[in-house]
Parts: sequence; structure tokens; C-alpha cells
Amino acid sequence: MTEQLYFDDPLTLDFTAEVTQVLALADGRFGALLPRTYFYPTSGGQEHDTGSLGPARVLDVFKRDGEILHVLDRAIDPGLHPARIDGARRFRNMQHHTGQHILSAAFIAVLGIDSLSANINGDSPSTIDLDTDPASTTGAVSGSDLNRVETFANGVLFEDRPVKSYYVTDADVPHIPFRKPPKVSGRIRVVEVEGLDVTPCGGTHCLSTGMVGMLKIVRTERVNQKLRVHFVAGAQALEFFQQTQAAAQGAALALDTGLDGVVGGIERLQAQLKQANFELEILRDIALEVEAGKLAEAAEPVGTRRLVTARFEGRNPAELRTLAQKLRGRAGTVSLLAAFDGRKLSLVASCADDTGLDARDLLQKHLAPFGGRGGGDARLAQGGGPADRSALDGLFANTKDCLEG
Ligand SMILES: [Zn+2]
Repeated sequence: MTEQLYFDDPLTLDFTAEVTQVLALADGRFGALLPRTYFYPTSGGQEHDTGSLGPARVLDVFKRDGEILHVLDRAIDPGLHPARIDGARRFRNMQHHTGQHILSAAFIAVLGIDSLSANINGDSPSTIDLDTDPASTTGAVSGSDLNRVETFANGVLFEDRPVKSYYVTDADVPHIPFRKPPKVSGRIRVVEVEGLDVTPCGGTHCLSTGMVGMLKIVRTERVNQKLRVHFVAGAQALEFFQQTQAAAQGAALALDTGLDGVVGGIERLQAQLKQANFELEILRDIALEVEAGKLAEAAEPVGTRRLVTARFEGRNPAELRTLAQKLRGRAGTVSLLAAFDGRKLSLVASCADDTGLDARDLLQKHLAPFGGRGGGDARLAQGGGPADRSALDGLFANTKDCLEG
């Protein structure tokens, strides 16, 4: 059983490690066993430490059969080695873990909502799952409620209250106001935030609430009918603030306004974009009207009818359809418009009322050579299918016959 020195001293990061055994692990890495260690193993929702042991990197630390295994990137000899824990990672985990105790207690104090579980992650937002369903009428937590919880929790940080850890026995348990009952028995480690929270816990914590620095709820989401709260603490809360400020200042600069004008500036842009799109639609329609007129002027007389054929590359089929709709309204006009996008040939056929022709028949005759499919009504039909560019070449070779026949 490895002695866990981090329990009573979470601030020691450099020490001389006594390595008693080095094992070759199945995945090609190595595992070192120490009779006592300051390296924290993954447990209780908190991630393991990393660092170095002699010349080797400590990549992972976990509990196995009562021992703490230090996973190394290379083999080392048993004996004494200088050991160093990555301080920034450890400290972030301590800030998040202590912050989680305070935030969970704050949800109870302010809103009367219990925490069910927590996940501590110093590199990205940590989470607390709350015993409330935000989709229910009684479980919804408003933004202002979250602000109240956050303000309460940060008030506890400002007061720099002591965070103590100590051990009790099973006999003591009924007399201790635990937020959560212990899951272990025998010698039970207790973490107490003075005047706020008493919890059985085996993690590493700050020595006072001031060391947490700052707590910020980032967002919430509904998971398994519970409310999951994502939060950052300490160094990561500062990074979050810096990133958010940079994004907000970038937006303000782009909008040529102050930070308080960003939302109004975006709303103005959205309104302008809507108006511009509306005007663009009108102009597009006018342009298509002009184009339809030119195509109609250049139509080829076939008997009593006038035939319009046109081939386009990379043109939107919806635009082709609008063009055909405009030609459909012109007396005696039959149109066949094709567009090729590199893989697919699209075809639209239109027949004015007085032509006596059916656009569906015309479409089918032109789609058949390359196996295309489509449909519509007697006045306008549309279709297409996979084809290569050569399908465009002879596409209208027999169109006149269709009109004469
Ligand atoms: Zn804890």
C-alpha cells in the first residue's frame, strides 16, 4: 500500500523518490512503484499528476491493487531518483477541485439544489451535475440564479477562508454535517471549507479559499435530465476572461464601436443584411427578366412556334427554372435550358399555353439519352442526372423535330 503524501502536503512538488520496483507494462511503457509518493493518481473525479522521475517522464498515475503505479515513458533503475510534479497542472486541478466544493455548496446555500457528481479538469471546464431537471417547471435555473450562485461562491473566495483536511472514523460520521455521506469506511478523509462545506474527499485542495482565485460558470446543459454546470477556476478563469475579452474587443473593433455597442452593432448589421438580401432578390429577378427577353428575341422560328435553347456551365438549377418560368409566359415560346456542374446535367423545359406541346414529353425525350429523371406539368418540367460534359454537345440536335412532329 503506497503512502499518499499529497494528502497532508499538496504543495510539495519536488522530492526524492525511492523506486522499489519497475515493471514492464503490456502497452510497452513502464510502471514504477514507490513506498510513498506525492504524485496524485486519477481518482474521485480528479485527474492524475504528470512530471518526471529521474530521466523518465511520468505520463499517468493510477491506483492498482492498493498500490499507486507511476507510468513512465522509459525504464529506470530501482533506487533513489529526483522527482518533480508538473506544478501548473497540479495547481489548476487543486483550484478546480476546491472550487467545485465551494460551487456545489453555493448551489445548496443559494438555490437549495444538491450536486450529484463532479468531474475535475484543469485543462478545460470542470463540471458539476445538479439534482434538478432544467426542462421541468420546478428545475429550471435562470441566468440570474446562476449569477447569484457565482457571486456567493466568489464571496467565499474573497474571504480567504481556511480549507482543512483531517481524518475521522466511522464512529464520528453521524456527528459530522457531511454534504455527502462517505463512500468509504474506516479511516475517512474529510475536507472542510470553513463555515460552508464538509465533504469526504481524497483529492488535492487549496489550503484556503483565496488560492482558488476566481470561479466562473461558463455554461449549462441538460444531460440525462440533470443540469450540468460547466465552470472554470483560478488560472483557467483568467484565461477564459482574457479569451472572452479578446473576442469582444475584436468584435468591437470590427464594428467600430465600444464593448457596450457590440450587440446593437450586430443587430444593425443583421437588419441591413436582411434589407440587402431583399433588394438583391428584386435585382436578380429583374436581371433574369432581361435575360429571358434576350433569349426570346433570339428564338428560332419552328413552324408557328418559337424555340429557345441555351446551355450553361455551373449555373444554379433554381435560376434555370425561374428563367424557364419567365419564357413560359411568352406566346408561342418553347424553351429548353440546360446546366452542367461538372458531374450532373440539369434540364428545364417550358411550353407556353398556345404551343399545344407538353413540357414533360419534351423533357423526357431529352433526358432519355443519358438516363436522367424528372417531372413537372405540361407547362414546366425539370429534371437531370449524372452525365459528362459531352452530353451537352448533342443535347438539342433533334429538338426541332420534336416541335415539328
Ligand atoms: Zn475534494
